[in-house]
Amino acid sequence: MSDSSTQSGKLPTSNFDVDLVRRYNGSGPRYTSYPTALQFTADFNAKQLREVIDLSNEQLVPDPLSLYVHIPFCSKLCFYCACNKVITRNKNRAVDYLERLHEEISKYGKIFDDDRELVQLHLGGGTPTFLETNQIDRLFSHIGDNFRLSKDLARDFSIEIDPRTVNIETLDCLREIGFTRISMGVQDFAPDVQKAIHREQSSDETLALIAHAQAIGFASTNVDLIYGLPLQTAAGFGKTLNQLLAVRPERLSIFHYAHLPDRFKPQRKICESQLPGSDEKLNILNGAISQLTQAGYVHVGMDHFALVDDSLVSALQDGSLQRNFQGYSTHARSDLIGVGVSAISHIGNSFSQNTKTLSIYQNHLDEGRMPIDQGLRLSQDDILRKRVIEQLMCSTEVNLDKALKGFDCDAASYFADELRNLRPLEADRLIELTSPNVIKVTQKGRFFLRNICMIFDQYLSKKRDLNHYSKVI
Ligand code: SF4
Repeated sequence: MSDSSTQSGKLPTSNFDVDLVRRYNGSGPRYTSYPTALQFTADFNAKQLREVIDLSNEQLVPDPLSLYVHIPFCSKLCFYCACNKVITRNKNRAVDYLERLHEEISKYGKIFDDDRELVQLHLGGGTPTFLETNQIDRLFSHIGDNFRLSKDLARDFSIEIDPRTVNIETLDCLREIGFTRISMGVQDFAPDVQKAIHREQSSDETLALIAHAQAIGFASTNVDLIYGLPLQTAAGFGKTLNQLLAVRPERLSIFHYAHLPDRFKPQRKICESQLPGSDEKLNILNGAISQLTQAGYVHVGMDHFALVDDSLVSALQDGSLQRNFQGYSTHARSDLIGVGVSAISHIGNSFSQNTKTLSIYQNHLDEGRMPIDQGLRLSQDDILRKRVIEQLMCSTEVNLDKALKGFDCDAASYFADELRNLRPLEADRLIELTSPNVIKVTQKGRFFLRNICMIFDQYLSKKRDLNHYSKVI
């Protein structure tokens, strides 16, 4: 009997199998994109970007737009950080940066057709609230001057908040400016964990901010937590969750800490002997999942949980859920423009990424050039596999025949190797293979979406180095 979820109209609950987690816990991509950024090359340049934008404008019904704005500055370094950021307390650095950011936004505003509505906006970082609220206000207005902002009350305009840099008045201003959602980093409230990761923030102040955001009408507050940090225990993490559940944030993300000190320099400051072992990490995750599901949260996918009336759950149910560089999000089928240093765009069948170096980013714009550094135009094979992987990540079921529709190829033969490689996962009841060529992810399989998707990743089968990626669980 099928235990797949959304297609039967039933919302996914949790079904955590510790033995399976141990067996499947290899390294793999998080599939915020397919192909992943490792496949981007310098062959993709500003000229190609212009071509894909022109093509997207020429569609019979062009997709709406989504804008990601990267603010790289943070005033203090968190030791677990793997983001593109600049640590500084000099607020003047934001002034120069914003000048170039406005210029980049103007450039995109001129290229995209005026009638394409901006339905989604996200300010991420770094720390967007490193900016003063008047700077955020001017940035928002500038975006409105260059794009047709959705007037829908349910528009998805969000900003990442660092609770250490805002107060209740800041939230009032952000709501007034026009943001509808906020996302805040918490990681863990345990004081010894906070000290070990060099990120100390008061639980009382954070909880007061969440409560205030709800009171002044933000449609949702997302809280980011991380498990696998130094000195973490299942009991301590459970206490953090209990504190949060008292204010019931609409969304919770529980990310696995990927300790990759060779790639991310700040992580060399983490004391490795303080990292929890795999059994303790599993206890933390297991405990967290049962606490959240008992409290009425829906397991949207991989690391994301949301209350049943949140738009993320509606998107899961109506097929508009997407996986992008911020994790799970609503508004699939929009063209994503990424502005700011290191930001990634996904327009039509292409990905492109801005330079990751602040000085080069600023120089390019000063010279009147788009700050594109690398990207990728998807091949037909990329497009097919991307469709399959996205559907697995976002709807837990894929009909391979439908995914290949319009491509003049037969699913059973095109994916013959993949279908064979899925058999062991079927035996472990992570998926069900139903006829003809339909893959359903079971509730148990929701924790192994990365493993299931990896079967369809042709770049992994070319034996790329998996050390680039974090552990699956
Ligand atoms: S984790 Fe976030 S707040 Fe901390 S240094 Fe990195 S980008 Fe800045």
